[in-house]
Amino acid sequence: MSEIPKEVLKKSGARVMSFRVGRVAEFLRRNKVVYTVRGYCDVDMRDVWIPELGLFGTRIYIREVFSEADLRMYIKESGFSSLAMWWAVVRRMYGDSKRKHLYQVSIEPVLLDVLHGLKMYLLRHHRRQLKTAIEYLEHSQIKYFVPEDFTFSAVIKGRHGDYVTQADFVKDEISCSCQANRGRGFVCWHSVALVLYLAQNRYINDNLAIALFRNYLNKGAPEPQVTINHFI
Ligand SMILES: [Zn+2]
Repeated sequence: MSEIPKEVLKKSGARVMSFRVGRVAEFLRRNKVVYTVRGYCDVDMRDVWIPELGLFGTRIYIREVFSEADLRMYIKESGFSSLAMWWAVVRRMYGDSKRKHLYQVSIEPVLLDVLHGLKMYLLRHHRRQLKTAIEYLEHSQIKYFVPEDFTFSAVIKGRHGDYVTQADFVKDEISCSCQANRGRGFVCWHSVALVLYLAQNRYINDNLAIALFRNYLNKGAPEPQVTINHFI
């Protein structure tokens, strides 16, 4: 179980969606997608926070479920080995009388429209493309951790050595130890890379990325309202 601070959850705009049946959570973690029945109806596509995985997901409404037969075509992606077993769990959780609804939940990486807004910023200040940032991530030695306060830190191999980059989603702060960043209030290359990595892997959603980069995206130029701290 992974806790998300209340203010971070609010900023993310996501709803908490628990997966208390272990095999279903595990199926979602392994296969990036699962079909699940719930006792509520919510037809809007939503970002959800999944505490059992410590990740964000996307929830899509599929249909109302009236009988076991309605689930037949989804059994292979339910986490259950048979339709009878799945239906037994659904009945145990929601009874026979309560209305039931089927959802698809996915933790696939999403296209990051937000960070595409950084394209001009990257070109202007780093003479780099966003595509380069993604490629850079694939080859960089990025290490991260998730402490209690929803702060992610990474050690990123840079041109002149290893840099420590940190993104704090409670305070909307980015810190980096690199020289390019220091004292100029710029969002550095490493900060972009870290946030991109977190978003690609669903540790954050687009809204949290927006909150962090809001000033840069709106103005297209560095404004030190996102606090840039320096370790040295
Ligand atoms: Zn940096």
